[in-house]
Amino acid sequence: MIEIQNVRKSFGSMEVLKGIDLTVDKGEVLTVIGGSGSGKSTLLTCINGLEPINAGRILVDGTEVHAKGTNLNTLRQKIGIVFQQWNAFPHLTVLENVTLAPRKVLGLSKAEAESIAETQLRHVGLGDKLLTYPSRLSGGQQQRMAIARALAMSPDYMLFDEVTSALDPQLVGEVLETLKMLAEEGMTMICVTHEMAFARDVSDRVAYFHKGVMAEIGAPEQLFGAPQEEVTRQFLASVR
Ligand code: ADP
Ligand code: MG
Repeated sequence: MIEIQNVRKSFGSMEVLKGIDLTVDKGEVLTVIGGSGSGKSTLLTCINGLEPINAGRILVDGTEVHAKGTNLNTLRQKIGIVFQQWNAFPHLTVLENVTLAPRKVLGLSKAEAESIAETQLRHVGLGDKLLTYPSRLSGGQQQRMAIARALAMSPDYMLFDEVTSALDPQLVGEVLETLKMLAEEGMTMICVTHEMAFARDVSDRVAYFHKGVMAEIGAPEQLFGAPQEEVTRQFLASVR
């Protein structure tokens, strides 16, 4: 479970998270929507401890992310994060790229790491690309490789930050299908996305962020069908 309690985060004098309270249960799929600069990415980087926070606390399975004694490397092994773009090592094959972290971080043997990497690459539909170099993959395939790379660490949580935003429109669907598959398998996920149809289809709950505040959260049919807040209505009207 991820518990976010009254989290505040500033960059210099600008407060970008203004007291966020949010709990994501095991197995839940939460999507986060909102305008540019509303704090969505910052929230994800705070959850896995990439960014410090100024107030409040974040607990992942009871471990306080920003507490002094917390081992962030151990914590991050259970939280996979995938961004808009991941620059794979160009001189390594797809399989080798996905094998890297299990070998270096988990200390697995080459054979063990390759077995896991191959399983996850097949899982995301890249079983025929193991020996290919990343530059030969389409953008959609590269994003699926990035997802497989995160999955190879056997995370309990997955955070996705606009993983389809840099893709050509015709490649978006294959990546969303991969996310949907993970959701259906029961992965606990937080997905920041601009894909409203996906959010409506896959989420247990949708959170709307506005200027550093979680303005509204609810089931997709409620948030999209009957938004309670004027700012949510305006945002949804602007993206439709
Ligand atoms: P979103 O993902 O919703 O578009 P972000 O979380 O990326 O929003 O950013 C929220 C605000 O924080 C923006 O105004 C952005 O410019 C600012 N910001 C984000 N990261 C940094 C940083 N490392 N240093 C300074 N300002 C930042
Ligand atoms: Mg962002």
